[in-house]
Amino acid sequence: MKVLVINCGSSSLKYQLIDSDTEEALATGLCERIGIDGRLVYQPAGAEKEKTDLAMPTHNEAIQFVLDALTNDKNGVIKSLDEVGAIGHRIVHGGEKFTKSVVITDDVIKAIEECNDLAPLHNPANLIGVRTCQKLMPGKPNVAVFDTAFHQTMPAKAYMYGLPYEYYEKYAVRRYGFHGTSHDFVSHVAAEMAGVDYKNSKIIVAHLGNGASISAVKNGECQDTSMGLTPLEGLVMGTRSGDIDPSIMEFIAGKEGLDIAGVMNVLNKKSGVQGLSQLSSDFRDLEEGANAGNEKAALAMDVFAYRVAKYIGSYVAALNGVDVIAFTAGIGENAPAIREKVLSYLGYLGITLNADENNRRGEDRLISTTDSKVKVFVISTNEELAICRQTVALV
Ligand code: AMP
Repeated sequence: MKVLVINCGSSSLKYQLIDSDTEEALATGLCERIGIDGRLVYQPAGAEKEKTDLAMPTHNEAIQFVLDALTNDKNGVIKSLDEVGAIGHRIVHGGEKFTKSVVITDDVIKAIEECNDLAPLHNPANLIGVRTCQKLMPGKPNVAVFDTAFHQTMPAKAYMYGLPYEYYEKYAVRRYGFHGTSHDFVSHVAAEMAGVDYKNSKIIVAHLGNGASISAVKNGECQDTSMGLTPLEGLVMGTRSGDIDPSIMEFIAGKEGLDIAGVMNVLNKKSGVQGLSQLSSDFRDLEEGANAGNEKAALAMDVFAYRVAKYIGSYVAALNGVDVIAFTAGIGENAPAIREKVLSYLGYLGITLNADENNRRGEDRLISTTDSKVKVFVISTNEELAICRQTVALV
């Protein structure tokens, strides 16, 4: 079956058409600047990437352009939309309502809308993608795959904040976690590569991208994860602060004359390694800067790696041990210096790094030595493929 995977944001939309039999992406791309002007990027497998400026006042035009590109005579990858068997949608927040992926019905849309409060920027945009696909491809099944669902197995002791209980009862304030599709996918691959039974294993996944989170997975179920009610909690990220003393908010608001929205903007968009380094949120720039003697860039990388190591340490405690650690996403897959820094704190676990494997680029691989007590892997995440698989499983 051919599955169209859609990840719809407020002004952008990423897509992949995947053949579920071969698990190959037939075409990938994105629409940018929806509602501003509009650009379609379209990359058929094995062919040139095409960028076209096209007016996209709404997501309707954007998705129509994607469908036209996929079916056009020149470099389309399917003859007609009849070949699309289903559409899989990434939905950011499923609250406590969704513990797994579901086929989208009117009731499901209503339930997702009830979670909009928890992800006001993402969920409404995700639903625009759903409604547009329903309109442009009537009759095709649409499936919702939630970023939060994998973490719904967390026990209350991990998801409750030390706040008045009524905030949980009245407003569903609790920890949810994100990147669940990636943590799910990567923890499965990690178990397989390590040769351990997923249902009888202790795995820590470090999803280190521009947004970054860690999860602790025991016997195939998430026990804890570093993001919370929103993706702001946890690790120091590209531009997000991660954990801070909440009193800093009032302190900075007073000093800088900011309101709550202003402080939140700083914590989400101007903090993290970007804020610390005052150089960049991108680890390629930070490494280059640090190598050229930029002390703030070096400090930002140290702070990032130290926080990752502390979380891994705390999750070893939560799991009462660990069999496998997996690094994934942009930084986890591509920054050997960061992996080395993180692992340098974890020698007490009996982890020894295989420097050659760590420094090599390429496919999923073991980067610990064969006698290391804990196996450490680099595993490329593939959220689109995970969404495709879950979509096929449901339709
Ligand atoms: P993601 O959010 O998973 O797409 O990750 C994006 C981030 O990965 C970028 O902002 C960079 O910080 C990081 N990254 C990507 N490629 C490299 C690389 N070759 N070396 C170091 N960091 C990288």
